Amino acid sequence: MTSRLKRLAVASLATALATLGITVANPSPASAAMTICYNTSQAGSYASVANQAATIWNNATVNLTLSANCGSNLRIYRITGGGSYAQRTSLGNGRVYIDTQQAAQYSVLRIMTHEIGHILGLPDNYNGNCALLMSGGSAGTSCTNAYPSTAEANRVSNLFAGTFAATERSADRAGADIFRDSWPSMLTSVS
Ligand SMILES: [Zn+2]
Repeated sequence: MTSRLKRLAVASLATALATLGITVANPSPASAAMTICYNTSQAGSYASVANQAATIWNNATVNLTLSANCGSNLRIYRITGGGSYAQRTSLGNGRVYIDTQQAAQYSVLRIMTHEIGHILGLPDNYNGNCALLMSGGSAGTSCTNAYPSTAEANRVSNLFAGTFAATERSADRAGADIFRDSWPSMLTSVS
């Protein structure tokens, strides 16, 4: 190899390394922190509850930030009858519906934080344990815990970091999911 060719080879290698360096320096979209803009224009008197729930999730997790009225990844609705539920279109995107009748019996902040939990990728876990946010109404009307457990919060952080097992991540991110919650005892009052 002539010295000129050697210089060319070294230059090419440097270019390749520089390209690699740039690639490594910039986080991939999957690992970038995600801002979830939530919209409370349809939340009525529950707008402040949504803000409290957002603060709880922001304090408990990393890799995502819920931010008020900067867009509409997540729309919050105040409804009467039909039950509270979450409609997730993809991870971090969807709609949450809070039923005033259920909110009269259960902690509305717990309902709000729970339903947002679905938008953040968590499934229901109706085991009656009040320490879990995703146990929802199964923990009874006396349970007012509105904070995710460490495990629940870490799972959300991992989902948004893109470090979760690929198969579960794709399942959690796939398609539209509707989580229609029971928040039980209201049913007995229907005549
Ligand atoms: Zn639920």
